[in-house]
Amino acid sequence: MFDTLTKGKKPVIISGPCSAESEEQVIATCMAIAKTGKVDMLRAGIWKPRTRPNTFEGVGAPGLKWLKEAGRRTNLPVAVEVANTKHVEEALKSEIDVLWVGARTTVNPFSVQEIADALRGTSIPVMIKNPLNADEDLWSGALERMIHVGLTDLALIHRGFAQYGKSVYRNEPKWQIPLEMKRRFPTVPMICDPSHITGKRENIAAISQQALDMDFDGLMIESHITPDQALSDAAQQVTPQALKEIIDSLIVRSSSVLDEALLDKLEALRKQMDIIDDDLVKLLGERMKVAEEIGLVKKEKGLTILQVKRWEEIIERVTKLGGFQGLSENFLHRYLSAIHQESIDHQNEVMNRTELEEE
Ligand code: PEP
Ligand code: MN
Repeated sequence: MFDTLTKGKKPVIISGPCSAESEEQVIATCMAIAKTGKVDMLRAGIWKPRTRPNTFEGVGAPGLKWLKEAGRRTNLPVAVEVANTKHVEEALKSEIDVLWVGARTTVNPFSVQEIADALRGTSIPVMIKNPLNADEDLWSGALERMIHVGLTDLALIHRGFAQYGKSVYRNEPKWQIPLEMKRRFPTVPMICDPSHITGKRENIAAISQQALDMDFDGLMIESHITPDQALSDAAQQVTPQALKEIIDSLIVRSSSVLDEALLDKLEALRKQMDIIDDDLVKLLGERMKVAEEIGLVKKEKGLTILQVKRWEEIIERVTKLGGFQGLSENFLHRYLSAIHQESIDHQNEVMNRTELEEE
């Protein structure tokens, strides 16, 4: 399935409601999105793993028939989420074409193994969403469990990572993680789910474009015939018309560099970047040597390593300067805490070095 879908036309588009709510809603949504001519696969959640109880938890097995009927009428493959053996059995019995493992399931190796065991001996295509937490090993492990039972038609879905506190995202994208997965599993298609990353329909196009610019293979976008009335994830679902507009707005860039002149230009810029990277590492090394000298002075005078006021001054000065350089506050914050930790480690090392080691 994914081999054929990713060959030629790019990106693969998977769409449909967050949840199947009624036969009418599933059929109307799927027919309308299929009519745009932009969609390669239909999706709908039948069993919904919700964070809190007393929210809509899906219509269950009867919804499988509705989705299957939508697939028959549109001639498109249909996908549902499975979270346990029973779901797998019901989905296979209803001849659902593609399954996916949701973020709340990927975190649990027991559940993933249970699903993998129930799929042994089949050749159904399976998509694995990233776990809720930013852990590429857990995500890799879920994929490997599917590979170990003999499944070969596999894809990954990047839906972002849960975070504590306020963020512009519903789930932080942390793009370095799907990129690491692409490096680890270069033949497995990577699909972005911008709907769950943003949580807001206005931002779906921008996140989709970012994913395509990072050479993702496809997009999974939630759609609903009347999104504002949706029983789950209302704010992030789009109408079939809006889905078409989002897809039409996307620019698909080539990942293979064919043009010689362009290649030369890229090569020159990359050399420039390598030189800057080398300089940055050398400067960081020098900074740590200065930190060690400070550590020796503190040791001599019996001062603590952490001098809060001094650290606050550094944060303020560097954040301001970094802002002028076009660096985001989020990056500067992570950069400064990494540097600070490394400095503390170096100072710790010199302050606690024994006399014997110093000789
Ligand atoms: C979904 O696709 O509707 C869903 C529940 O997603 P996730 O597992 O990414 O939260
Ligand atoms: Mn959803």
